[in-house]
Amino acid sequence: MLSRHFFTLAATVAATLTLGALPAAAQGSLNVYCSAQVEWCQAAANAFAKETGIRVNMSQKGSGEVLAQIRAEAQNPRGDVWYGGTGDPHLQMAEDKLSAVYRSPMLDQLHDWARKQAEQSGYRTVGIYAGAMGFGYNPELLGKRNIAAPACWKDLLDARFKGEIQMANPQSSGTAYVMIATMVQLMGEDQAFDYLKGLHRNVNAYPRSGTGPIKSVARGETGVSISFVHDAVTERLGGFPVQYVVPCEGTGYEIGSMSIVAGARNERNAKRFYDWALSPAAQQIGAEAKSFQTPSNRNTPIPAEAPKMDQIKLIDYDFAKYGSSDERRRLIERWDREVNSLP
Ligand code: PLP
Repeated sequence: MLSRHFFTLAATVAATLTLGALPAAAQGSLNVYCSAQVEWCQAAANAFAKETGIRVNMSQKGSGEVLAQIRAEAQNPRGDVWYGGTGDPHLQMAEDKLSAVYRSPMLDQLHDWARKQAEQSGYRTVGIYAGAMGFGYNPELLGKRNIAAPACWKDLLDARFKGEIQMANPQSSGTAYVMIATMVQLMGEDQAFDYLKGLHRNVNAYPRSGTGPIKSVARGETGVSISFVHDAVTERLGGFPVQYVVPCEGTGYEIGSMSIVAGARNERNAKRFYDWALSPAAQQIGAEAKSFQTPSNRNTPIPAEAPKMDQIKLIDYDFAKYGSSDERRRLIERWDREVNSLP
């Protein structure tokens, strides 16, 4: 199922800047799999290459896709660092020992939630940003169709949203898995699957990428998306008619993470990138590239545009449970069997 997605992989970007005292050949290279927005991935690769003279090959893919690729390459790793993407599959990677143990000297500078991600993985991953789940909607499109905007998860089951909702496919997208895990934690598993089956009646597509649905909202192709709310801010600042809602029942969140691939060929450069990516200077590149997650270094300014995490009713997301290999695999398989197979 997942291999199908590899034919549609997003851009592979090679950042080949060779500034610095030594030529790039002497500094070597670094292969980064990136699951943040492609603009951020590109900007980070360029900045790191410029600062260090290391040649960076960067490819952007969804969180589920990267995990599947790293697993497929385990005997002969081609990636060195996985940068960004939702935390659950990074934790699964850690449990399966597909990531290397690394205690960055930067850990002391991080918020507790980011350090905890490192501690509970045995220092095989670390939090680089946080973001809350919610809905994006297009007020112009909903207005034209006389549809009141949603305020709560339960609203999305209403017949007024028939054919109006998009969420990503959890097999490829970490965002969509966070949504499923959120519903399971809010309602209990069987009720959550009843909810997802009801929601399916109103869903017009499950795109591959977590940002696909909000981009469809921005383009006026669908009324509502299930997305990280910071993604809605990006689209609004891009000039599109997009608003976001934090669901009234409360919501889940991601700890966007970073891991070094076990057996990485360029381990030294991977560690250098890892330390750099936890620094305030590197983390500010996110906001410069119009990504408005909350950064994990306490000294990185929180972008003014970022949704205020402390004002959002967040569930106590159980990262250990929902990032565990068995649980994540089981819930995604159940979704595929019971929901995705429905007409
Ligand atoms: N884009 C943004 C803005 C994110 O915060 C995340 C999650 O870390 C992703 C993309 C991940 O994408 P996907 O859901 O395709 O795995």
